[in-house]
Amino acid sequence: MSIESGLAEVKARLAAALKAAGRAEGDARLIAVSKTFPAECAAEAYRCGQHAFGENRVQELSEKAPKLPADIEWHLIGHLQQNKVRAALEHAAWIHSIDSLALLQRTVRIAGELGVSPKLLLEVNISGEESKFGLTPSDVPLVLEGCPTPMLAGFMTVAPLGASEAELHRIFGGLRKLRDEMEAKSGLRLPELSMGMSGDFEIAVAEGATMVRVGTAIFGHRDYSK
Ligand SMILES: *Cc1c(COP(=O)(O)O)cnc(C)c1O
Repeated sequence: MSIESGLAEVKARLAAALKAAGRAEGDARLIAVSKTFPAECAAEAYRCGQHAFGENRVQELSEKAPKLPADIEWHLIGHLQQNKVRAALEHAAWIHSIDSLALLQRTVRIAGELGVSPKLLLEVNISGEESKFGLTPSDVPLVLEGCPTPMLAGFMTVAPLGASEAELHRIFGGLRKLRDEMEAKSGLRLPELSMGMSGDFEIAVAEGATMVRVGTAIFGHRDYSK
């Protein structure tokens, strides 16, 4: 399967999911997750019209971004260590993985120093799975009260591997409900919901995702042995 056909297929799936949910075309954006693939693969997707890409490691982002067109919108979707915030903000217009008040405060401060205004999402662990990063839903109000910055744009979650359809609805629907409650409580506008990957993005779209993060279905299976 080529990147061109993978991308076309994912776009068709996304359009069908939006339609089935009674949502407008273009209501959820596709973030192409290029992690572990060489810059040439992202360049090929770019040539096919894809301009938003996701990486999960700062180092890989720092290596890849300079090799690719400057108008690519980079999304950091993986865990961010405090000492990598400055490097992340050199390329990332979006950070989906803010998972503590300290990280949020540091990111806002460094963005100010650099004169950039990234969009930030709070990563929430809705499922309560131990191995995952992310804030617990009960931590979220404290983070919003502690740093009510206009850079905050919404929320992100990663569903556990192997979750059933019912669980996926509960997780993605749960993030949407949390968002609705937190918007009402904080007075901030938090419209973005980053949820859904290759295997589950239709369910995320049914539950209100505004961004889906898709790697495998576009680029193929990742080889971590290299
Ligand atoms: C790798 C990754 C994805 C993409 O997953 P696929 O199953 O390959 O589509 C999405 N979100 C995050 C946070 C990831 O690390």
